[in-house]
Order: sequence, then C-alpha cells, then structure tokens
Amino acid sequence: MRIYIKGVADERFHRPLQLIANLFFEETEIFFDSAADRDLLIDFIIDYNEVDVKVIGKLQDNEVKIEKEHERQFSGITTEKEQFRQVKNVFSYVYLTLLQQYTGITQKWGILTGVRPTKLLHKKLQQGISKEQAHAQLRKDYLITDEKIELMQKIVEQQLNIVPDLYDLQKEVSIYIGIPFCPTKCAYCTFPAYAINGKQGKVDSFLGGLHYEMREIGRWLKDKDIKITTVYYGGGTPTSITAEEMDMLYDEMYASFPDVKNIREITVEAGRPDTISPEKLDVLKKWNIDRISINPQSYIQETLKAIGRHHTVEETIEKYHLAREKGMNNINMDLIIGLPGEGVEEFQYTLSETENLMPESLTVHTLSFKRASEMTRNKLKYKVASREEISSMMDEAVKWTSKHNYEPYYLYRQKNILGNLENVGYSKKGQESIYNIMIMEEQQTIIGLGCGAASKFINPETGKITHFANPKDPKTYNDSFEQYTTEKINILEELFFSHCK
Ligand code: SF4
Repeated sequence: MRIYIKGVADERFHRPLQLIANLFFEETEIFFDSAADRDLLIDFIIDYNEVDVKVIGKLQDNEVKIEKEHERQFSGITTEKEQFRQVKNVFSYVYLTLLQQYTGITQKWGILTGVRPTKLLHKKLQQGISKEQAHAQLRKDYLITDEKIELMQKIVEQQLNIVPDLYDLQKEVSIYIGIPFCPTKCAYCTFPAYAINGKQGKVDSFLGGLHYEMREIGRWLKDKDIKITTVYYGGGTPTSITAEEMDMLYDEMYASFPDVKNIREITVEAGRPDTISPEKLDVLKKWNIDRISINPQSYIQETLKAIGRHHTVEETIEKYHLAREKGMNNINMDLIIGLPGEGVEEFQYTLSETENLMPESLTVHTLSFKRASEMTRNKLKYKVASREEISSMMDEAVKWTSKHNYEPYYLYRQKNILGNLENVGYSKKGQESIYNIMIMEEQQTIIGLGCGAASKFINPETGKITHFANPKDPKTYNDSFEQYTTEKINILEELFFSHCK
C-alpha cells in the first residue's frame, strides 16, 4: 500500500503515521512528496491554539472519498511536549477512523501503538481518576474497545493484588542479568543470543565481566542501603552455561547483592529444554531459585525445526518432568501464536499438550516480525496464518486459560505483531512473576547487568525514564564492562541522591 500524505509538515507525526498504517496493511509506504503511483491520498488540516485542537482528514482513492474531523480541548497542559502529545492523539484519532472506515477493520487497541497499554491505565488511577472515568477516557480518546479495556482492568487489579505496594517501590530496584548464549539461534529471535558451541573462551571472559558487574553494583546497593525487589536471569538462555558456572554465578549473587534471602523473587529462564540437565536443576534448587521458564513455543515438531529450535517436543516434556522431580514448583511456559505453518488446529494441539503439564504460568505470545530477525529477512520463506485466524487462535488461548483457572496478569504489545494483538502472561493464583509486572509497568528502576542488558532508570520523584544499554556482543562487552559499570553507578548516584546535594 502506497499512501501519499498531504498537510503534515511536522516530522514528529511521521512515525505515528507509519505505525498506524502498519496496523491495517502488510507493507506500507508513506510519501510526503507527491507519489504518482499512490494507492491512497490523505489530506490533513491540523489546527491548534492554546485552548483546543482540531484535525480534519480527507481520504481518497480512485473510487472512495471519506472525510473525518475531530476537535478536543487540551487538558492540564504544562509543557510543549505534553501539548504535542495531545495534538498527536487527536491527529491519530482522525487518521485511524479514516482507515477503519476505508478497510472495514476495527482496531481493538484503537490508536494505541505503544508497548504497555496497562501503564496508561495505572497512570490514570495513580492520578486519582476514578475507574469509570479512566475507562471512558480510554474509550473516547484512544478508541480502545470494551474488550481490551476489560482486559486492562483485570490485569491492573491483578497486579495490585500481587504487588499491593506497586506504586511505592520507586526506592527499590530490580536486577536483570543477561547471559547472551544459546545452543542455536531461533529464526524469530533478535535477542543477544550467540550459539555457544566452541565459544568457551568467550564465555569465560564474559562471565568474568558479569561477576565484576554484580560485585560492584551489589556493593553500591549495600552501601546505599537500597533493596532489591526481584532478580531475573534472561538472555539468551541463562542455562546454556555449565552447572559449575551457574553455581559460581549464584554464589556471587548471594555474596554481592544485599539481603538476597528477602528478595521477593528470583527467576532463571531455562527457555531451551536442550540446555536443562539434572546437575543444573540441582544448582537452581540449591540457590533457592523461585521460578524458571521452560519454553515449548509449540508442540509441533516441524514448527520447531522450521524456526531453528534444535530440540524435540519430547525433550521439552521430559525436561519439564525432570524439573518437577527436582522440586521446581513454579514453572512458566511460553507459547507463540502464529508460528509458520500453524493455524487454529495446530494451536489447539499445543494447548491440549499443555493440559498434560499444567505449568504454574503460561505466557502466550503472538509472533512479531522483528526487523533484525532471520524470519523477517526471509519473510517469503515463512508462511503465517491470516489476521482472522491469528485472532481465532488468541480466542482459543483466552478460552483455554480461563477454563483452567489461569488469570491474565501482564500484557505487552510489539511493533509488527501479527493481527495487532498482544502478548499476555497468565498465571495460577499466587504464582505470578513480580519481575514481569515491574518491567511492564515501569514503576521502579531495573538495573541491567551482562551482555545486551538494558537498564531502565526511573527517577523516584518524577518518574522520568533514562535508558542505558550494555553492549550486545560479548567481545565489546568484555572490552568495556568496567566502564559501563561505572557509568551505571554514576546514573544511580544522580537518580537517588542528587536532590540531597
Ligand atoms: S532460545 Fe530464546 S534467546 Fe535463544 S535464540 Fe531462541 S528465542 Fe533467542
């Protein structure tokens, strides 16, 4: 689809224009200079002053002409940035309604294209807006459907049950530890994940750097008397390293981090079943790791092969039982809707296999074509289900989880996610991952250690977010981890103590 947009000189609108168009059409190109072979022309008039904003949009192709307009008063503006945000919302509103009428597709998430819809609802409730009023705003200003508002509400309530002090955790931090190795690289993956075989030298130096980071950050937290709420080992696959290396790592955690016994939750992703062994499970148990993830993604063998996961379905099941025997009693499993070659029938099969295992939590992802993945680079090679079928598969997940007493407790969305749907974490009561809530709702600082680990520093007073990323490849990390650690400590000093100066 080639869309020619007129009347939008301000470049800050260009990204929302692209993101919203992507919700409706598979391949969209947007032009701001006249495009002779365009499929659509949309002409905008955006007009605003200190009090209100009005946007008129006219869409036209060879046969159809549609016009929409929307006007809104600004509310509570203090900054230019906030004013622009509100203008952008009205503009997106008109653009979305034009495209909805043109295509006949209703976007259940309305104009929201961001990753964290529930954060928006939390923010409104934290501001003291009543539930009813907040819902009305989501419906009216963002065009979110009742189905999704209900889901958001359910999740927000669930999160506040699990973490009643969620809005008061700004003075604590959580820690993310990134281990950038996997047995092989999956086709849809854009995480820092390097095939581990034959890389022992690299692994050794990486772990040296990681131990250093843990010691230094731990020392700072102890000195400043800052508590850790949760710790999460991700990557990559943190169980790709040997049992002995894992043992030393958790030993380091207990020695370096403050008050580890009272950390609310420690999770280790053991995503790839082919990395799990009895020795590694013993190590996890020895260090009281509360929660692990073993990820089938699908129970169809051909699918696993097609996406480059070199393990068998049987291995997933066998390792799951092994983990149980070894006493792991909070296991999460990830499934992906819309993997190549899969439709409703295959997904139903995957759910029926899940029924034989009944993990404590189940995270249902919808496949997204991330720009840097092998799957996106070779998109034609991978046949995926239609928008309608993806939606039916999601409905199956909702029905299945509700039938088996799993409650949704966090959700996030991604760009280029199939069918413009979402990823939802479901859990049995009391087995939810607190870290997942922390990362999604951005209520506290998360310090990233290790390769590719992203830190998110949240100012305890203003809520302002500062991002900081460690290098993604082990070589650069190995050359520079000391410098990155120092920079993080400087940011933390500034964040937590600058107001005392
Ligand atoms: S197991 Fe996870 S991190 Fe590793 S390559 Fe596959 S998707 Fe990426």
